[in-house]
Amino acid sequence: MKKHTKKFKRVKRNIKNKVRRKSVKSKRVRRKGSKMKGGAIPPCDKNNPLSINDIWTSMHTNNFEICGCAMRLNHAHKYQLFQNGQGPAKPPAPRRYCQTRLNYGIIWHTHPACCEVPSKLYPSTEDLLKVVKHGSHTSLIFCQYGVWSINCEQKLTDQQVISEIRNVIELVVKETLLHTNNGQDINNESLNFLIDNIFNRLSQQGLENYIPSYKIAFNFWDHYQDVLKFEISDRYKAINPNDHFY
Ligand SMILES: [Zn+2]
Repeated sequence: MKKHTKKFKRVKRNIKNKVRRKSVKSKRVRRKGSKMKGGAIPPCDKNNPLSINDIWTSMHTNNFEICGCAMRLNHAHKYQLFQNGQGPAKPPAPRRYCQTRLNYGIIWHTHPACCEVPSKLYPSTEDLLKVVKHGSHTSLIFCQYGVWSINCEQKLTDQQVISEIRNVIELVVKETLLHTNNGQDINNESLNFLIDNIFNRLSQQGLENYIPSYKIAFNFWDHYQDVLKFEISDRYKAINPNDHFY
């Protein structure tokens, strides 16, 4: 039997994707009216406002992650952060995490830069998948040298598609950690490596079609400009935390 050519495989794949996309759509229609995953987004609960300085202090003193929701006040480009969660300390916990109470529109969490075992400067696989799987459209991650912003408007429910996307992300995250001292070094090359590889591989596998608005961004804190050897570009800006967060 003749072996399938690359082109044939690609065509086959595209057909498969079309069929899948259809089924994702029909599922979404069926879900309407019932319990909708991508339905109403709960308003941020404003019990515990935090300033960016509070975040900074927590990141450098607490052995655990804190998390919550955020709002943009008066349509300004500045975020007001509210805390409503706290994770376990590592050690003794084997890994840090923090879960917000609900799937708010904008969520955030910290990656502690202190203590015996500092957290990685990179998002985890689950951090990168959150906005694809759950209601939130924006996830901010505060780390020592800057802030990650992960966005996605589309919400997936098809477990097969989610797991294919997870496989891609997991592998790229693993490869990134291998050449960044287990996530402790960060620079333009490592950022390009993580972000470009995720997007190239998702698009090679036709998975980008499911999440066309998916975006990963990182901005350095400007006070590290002279300490770190990073190039400021349109892609990775040096930002003053006080200009972007209350
Ligand atoms: Zn995280």
